[in-house]
Amino acid sequence: MAEKKKQIYDVIVVGSGASGGWACKRLAEAGLKVALLEAGRPQSDKNFTEHQPAFELKYRNKAPEIIRKTRPIQVKFAVCNEYTYNWFVNDLEEPYTTPADKPFNWMGRLRMTGGRTNVWGRVSLRFCDWDFKSASRDGYGEDWPLSYKDIEPYYDLVEKYIGITGSPEGLEHLPDGQFQPPVPLTCQETLFRNRVKEKLGRTVMPARTANLTKPINGRGPCHFCGPCERGCMTHSYFNSAFTTVADALATGNCTLISNAMAHNVLMDAERNRARGVLYVDRITRQPREISARVVILCAQSQESVRILLNSATPQYSDGLANSSGVLGHYLTAHVRSGGGSGEFPALGAKPSLGAPVKPLGIYIARFRNLRNDPPYKKFLRGFGYEGESSTEFSWAAPGFGEAYKKALREPRTRISITGFGEVLPRWDNFIELDPNVKDVYGIPVLKIHMSDGENERAMIQDMGDSAGEMLEAAGAKNIRTYAHPSAPRWALHEAGIARMGSDPKKSVLNQFQQTHDIKNLFVMDASGFTSNPCQNPTLTIMSLAVRSCDYLMSEMKRNSL
Ligand SMILES: Cc1cc2nc3c(=O)[nH]c(=O)nc-3n(C[C@H](O)[C@H](O)[C@H](O)COP(=O)(O)OP(=O)(O)OC[C@H]3O[C@@H](n4cnc5c(N)ncnc54)[C@H](O)[C@@H]3O)c2cc1C
Ligand code: SF4
Repeated sequence: MAEKKKQIYDVIVVGSGASGGWACKRLAEAGLKVALLEAGRPQSDKNFTEHQPAFELKYRNKAPEIIRKTRPIQVKFAVCNEYTYNWFVNDLEEPYTTPADKPFNWMGRLRMTGGRTNVWGRVSLRFCDWDFKSASRDGYGEDWPLSYKDIEPYYDLVEKYIGITGSPEGLEHLPDGQFQPPVPLTCQETLFRNRVKEKLGRTVMPARTANLTKPINGRGPCHFCGPCERGCMTHSYFNSAFTTVADALATGNCTLISNAMAHNVLMDAERNRARGVLYVDRITRQPREISARVVILCAQSQESVRILLNSATPQYSDGLANSSGVLGHYLTAHVRSGGGSGEFPALGAKPSLGAPVKPLGIYIARFRNLRNDPPYKKFLRGFGYEGESSTEFSWAAPGFGEAYKKALREPRTRISITGFGEVLPRWDNFIELDPNVKDVYGIPVLKIHMSDGENERAMIQDMGDSAGEMLEAAGAKNIRTYAHPSAPRWALHEAGIARMGSDPKKSVLNQFQQTHDIKNLFVMDASGFTSNPCQNPTLTIMSLAVRSCDYLMSEMKRNSL
């Protein structure tokens, strides 16, 4: 059914998260008329609960089984809890399937303006040429169709706007950025950093995260209350709902259409052009059409590719823009099931229930398969670690009465680190439509096929072993390490299923995330990643989206879109 009052837009953007927010801001600020289709509800400061104590909640945030009734997958990651659960997809209404022997936890499926940036961990790291050209170096997979110098100015632009705290470290394989002052390390983090450098030559740094230490654009610096995943009234972390999307709406050129679940891209088959999007209004369950000159999908990797698969036409019978046949294949998502923890009892820090809570910890830069090293024998590519430290009461101390009270106050000063490793793009990790299952809106759902290979297994083992080695070098006590297969697979950093490339026979998108097959159709989320380096992806997603929007506008000016 066509919209009653038809408005003509220049561009439709599907999804208001990290990529969609930037696309809307860039295009609307340049004067284009943008329709932003967002499956979720509008976000508002009124929903933010970062200062609300758990005792005010009905179940004291202690009853995940209640949430499990509607969100059995989402609740597996702690950011979906009694405070935030209704920001997340209802897994029963919007399911997906997997083969029985390849379980996959597709978590972090948000249904709010801002998408995953509402609850993300905010770690923001640059890729480098070592990542973009890794195939030329080790012979596995494909190089990206762009280089570091192509994206560098966009990293600068995005970092200055979103605000990233960090320290320059001068590493070739983890380029420095436009940092706000870093949040100081704790005692145990400082000790760990110094000893790991001294004994193993590895770099431990304050985590580079999108939390402000200085005000920007009316957003206040972080006041260290802790739970950013519940929102932030001072807008001190980056969430596209109150930054990029708000800026786009403020121009008057962007219209946010909430509760709009995109079903498929509408095609003008004769002209081989996208002409709009068919979406389902989630409240009324009615189908609606919207038209524009250009369509940009920014719905998160699997969701965008699902839309393309659901947009098959007689000409593109295996999915829209899929003349290469690679759409849906080469799914990657970081492995992160190796790491360790240790205690530093000698430091004498005092635990407190009212102390400031740092919303970020440390990052350990990759140290395998670097430029001047011989190739590491056990696996290709590499991994970094995210880490955090804490000084806690000894809640589990034995005894009663005075003895317990005394033992309780013995501080537990810890560091824990978790590896984040690159997963090689493999053809047999893929998504397709499940022919037998639809969501409540009548839209066919995905079947996800994902498992680890030999390379990932060897890397996970090394994450555990190297964690132990570094904690030992730092003098930690009670060291515990782990390295177990990452089954069921999950990660929150999925990428690669509509990959970019120079060769249209082997890729879906060109270097500007424009489909090779249909000029006025773009996909600007991580599905375009040619590989998925171990650094967290979102800074690169946002920088690429801005770069691609600049290209899109230059093509529009030339009248070639
Ligand atoms: C708990 C958690 C921690 C994370 N930590 C980090 C981190 O530390 N560093 C990092 O780099 N990344 C992190 N990530 C990943 C990061 O959040 C994502 O990479 C990023 O948000 C992806 O951006 P996007 O634009 O592709 O999708 P999203 O930000 O997820 O936005 C997609 C939007 O599209 C909407 N949508 C989906 N389908 C449709 C449809 N059919 N029609 C209309 N709208 C639709 C969704 O409702 C959503 O709002 C984390 C993610 C989670 C969940
Ligand atoms: S820790 Fe900082 S960024 Fe996070 S919610 Fe609190 S004030 Fe906001």
